[in-house]
Amino acid sequence: MSDDIDDWGIATRAVRAGVHRTNEGEHSEAIFPTSSFAFANAAEAAARFAGTTPGNIYSRFTNPTIRSFEERLAALEGGAKCVAFASGMSAILSTCLAVLKAGDHIVSSKAVFGTTTILFQNYLAKFGVETTFVPLTDYAAWEQAIRPNTRLLFLETPSNPLTEIADIARLAALARAHQTLLAVDNAFCTPALQRPLALGADLVIHSATKYLDGQGRCIGGAVVGNDELVGQAVYGVLRTCGPSMSPFNAWVFLKGLETLSLRMHAHSANALALAQWLERQPRIKRVHYPGLASHPQHSLAKQQQSGFGGIVTFEVNGGQSAAWRVIDATRVFSITANLGDTKSTITHPATTTHGRLTPEQRAQAGIGDGLIRLSIGLEDVADLQADLARGLG
Ligand SMILES: *Cc1c(COP(=O)(O)O)cnc(C)c1O
Repeated sequence: MSDDIDDWGIATRAVRAGVHRTNEGEHSEAIFPTSSFAFANAAEAAARFAGTTPGNIYSRFTNPTIRSFEERLAALEGGAKCVAFASGMSAILSTCLAVLKAGDHIVSSKAVFGTTTILFQNYLAKFGVETTFVPLTDYAAWEQAIRPNTRLLFLETPSNPLTEIADIARLAALARAHQTLLAVDNAFCTPALQRPLALGADLVIHSATKYLDGQGRCIGGAVVGNDELVGQAVYGVLRTCGPSMSPFNAWVFLKGLETLSLRMHAHSANALALAQWLERQPRIKRVHYPGLASHPQHSLAKQQQSGFGGIVTFEVNGGQSAAWRVIDATRVFSITANLGDTKSTITHPATTTHGRLTPEQRAQAGIGDGLIRLSIGLEDVADLQADLARGLG
C-alpha cells in the first residue's frame, strides 16, 4: 500500500487504496482467478510456507484481488487489517471462532440481523458460548448483562428494521471498562456514513452483500480491526476453516467501494425526502427514519453519522391487510428482503424477515403487522412516492 494513504481523504482512499498494478499496466484492477500460486524453486516454496518471505500460496487465504478489496475497505474504515469472507454470516461466525472459547459469554443487541440471533442462540450455544440479548439503547441493561466471562459486545446501529441508533462511543467505553471487545455490524451505514473504529469499537463487521456491492450482485463479508485481532486471530480462522471470498466477488466489491460514498449520500437524500413525505400521509401511523426530527435518537444520529442511510420503515393503519395492499400496489419497488441495492425494495417484516418470531416476540421487538420496511434505491423520489401513494390512497 502507498505510504501516502494515511494522508488521503476518504474519497481518494475509495478509488486508490489497494491498487497493485501488474506489469501489464492495467488501469482497472485485475481479477486473479487462480486457486494456487507457483514458486520459482523449492527454497521459495519453503520460505513462503514458513512465512519467512511474504507472498501468495493458496487462494483459500490470500489472493491479490481479495487483498485489494481488503486493503481498500481497511483504509475506508480506518483499521489496520481487513479479512474478507464468503458472506456476512461467515464473517460473524469467524469473528466468534477467533475471539471466543467454550465458557465465554456474549452480550448482544436484541435488534440484530435474524440469522445472527440464530447463530448465537442455536449454534454457538452448542459449543458452550452463551448469549444475553438486551434492548439496543438500554445502556443499564448492557451493563447489567456483563459477567466476568463476557468477552464480546455485539450490535448493529441503525437497527433493522426500526432504525434505532446506539451510542457507539458509550458502549465502547463500557466494553473497555469491563475488558470485553465491542463488535459493530456496520452493514447499514458503511464507512461512508459511520466509522465505528474511530468511536472506540474493536471490530467492524460487514455484509458486503448490501451497500458495499450496492447493486445486489454478490454475497460477501468482511471484518476490520487491528493486527492482533484481525490480522492474526480472524485471519487464522479464515486460513484454517476456509469461508473464503471468491476473487470475482472481491473484484465486484472493490469496484463497488469506488462509488460507495456517492451512493450512500444519494440513498440518504432519497430516503430523507421519502420519509418526510410519508410523515405527511394521513393513513400512516408512524415513520421511523433517523433523519426525521421525530426520531428519538435524531441528534445522536446527526453526531455519529455523516448521513442517515437508505432504510426507512413505516407503520400503516389497518395491520397486515393494509400493509400488504401497499406492497402489492407497487410497480417500481421490488418485493424482496434484500437491501442496499440501487433498486428500491419493499418488505413486510412481520411475515418475512421476522416471521419466525412468536407474535409476543414480535410485539416486544416493535414489529407490528402494519410495519413496512423500505430500502431506498437511486430511482427518482417522485416515482417512489407515486408508487407508494397508489396503495396508500
Ligand atoms: C445481510 C446481513 C447480514 C448477513 O450477511 P450475508 O452476506 O447475507 O451473509 C448480517 N448483518 C446485517 C446487518 C445484514 O443486513
